Amino acid sequence: GRKFFVGGNWKCNGTTEEVKKIVATLNEAKVPPPDVVEVIVSPPFVFLPLVKNLLRPDFQVAAQNCWIKKGGAFTGEVSAEMLVNLGIPWVILGHSERRLILNESNEFVGEKVAYALAQGLKVIACVGETLEQRESGSTMAVVAAQTKAIAERISNWSNVVLAYEPVWAIGTGKVATPAQAQEVHSELRKWFHANTSPEVAATTRIIYGGSVNGGNCKELATQPDVDGFLVGGASLKWDWEWDHVFRI
Ligand code: 13P
Repeated sequence: GRKFFVGGNWKCNGTTEEVKKIVATLNEAKVPPPDVVEVIVSPPFVFLPLVKNLLRPDFQVAAQNCWIKKGGAFTGEVSAEMLVNLGIPWVILGHSERRLILNESNEFVGEKVAYALAQGLKVIACVGETLEQRESGSTMAVVAAQTKAIAERISNWSNVVLAYEPVWAIGTGKVATPAQAQEVHSELRKWFHANTSPEVAATTRIIYGGSVNGGNCKELATQPDVDGFLVGGASLKWDWEWDHVFRI
């Protein structure tokens, strides 16, 4: 089975005091053990050491990005090697905010995923269509092209979680319906079957992101191909009944 995965992406938010408060809330949450669910928290770079030090040991941390190759003269960037050096196990790559606002192309994201994996990081790779793309019927073509640019550059998917995050659902309160999420997740799994291997298709976790909260997560989690969530806004509070979240 695919272990359920819940990630909190804090994006560019938080002060030291706020970070300490969120971590304190998480540290008290009643969550099933790590062999049942993996919980990952992704603060901005500057708070990674603080969060790593304060967070309960059964939860893990993720960076929100890293540089495409080995560090060096790349002002303002943070390398995969640095994350490894700090003991940060995970990195989110290809978030739509980076693809769209910072113009990261499919190829650029694919290169980053390959490099980060080669350094020993685990990767939460994000794909998703805009509203315009959905309305023009190109959702699957878009997410397949984004996934293909990764698949062409890696052969081992065991350290990758694929996050389907429709852009129109991010930060809008317009969560995908469970059926909409399931449809794309199931198509992605078929894509893996046809383009990688049956094993990759069966074992790679595909998680959903976009306006997930404590109220809508349970129904989403009942869908057979929804293996978890990547949560933005609601992860800054985590005021959930955690035992409601998991498909067990
Ligand atoms: P929201 O949960 O705020 O919609 O953000 C989702 C997201 O982008 C997670 O990476």
